[in-house]
Amino acid sequence: MEDCIFCKIIKGEIPSTKVYEDEEILGFKDINPAAPIHILVIPKKHIKSLVELEKEDEILIGKIYTVINKIAKDQGVKEKGYRVIVNCGKDGGQEVGHLHFHLLAGKPLGEKIV
Ligand code: 5GP
Ligand code: ZN
Repeated sequence: MEDCIFCKIIKGEIPSTKVYEDEEILGFKDINPAAPIHILVIPKKHIKSLVELEKEDEILIGKIYTVINKIAKDQGVKEKGYRVIVNCGKDGGQEVGHLHFHLLAGKPLGEKIV
């Protein structure tokens, strides 16, 4: 997708601090961190949002959670714990239209919504 900032990050057209990369998945630091550790984990395939998921994406989504767990381990927070957030659509507060998983950690994360 030409106008997608996360596709541009995948292609290296916008710089980012990468913490994980394989053929299908990229993990990089959020530019405006909401916690000491705030990593965005994204599929390289341009999927707009969770609502756009297709049956063929099921394995990819499973891999993303395995990658999140690996990144948490690499960042040294696997034992203390972390939170994963996916904002979906307008009411969910999604601002970037390329599916992304927020990995937040490094401090007690405060009030829970759920
Ligand atoms: P959303 O609100 O869509 O769930 O989250 C989008 C996230 O992307 C925000 O936390 C925001 O800080 C991050 N973000 C937006 N633009 C950039 C960018 O150019 N680089 C990086 N690393 N993060 C970005
Ligand atoms: Zn994209």
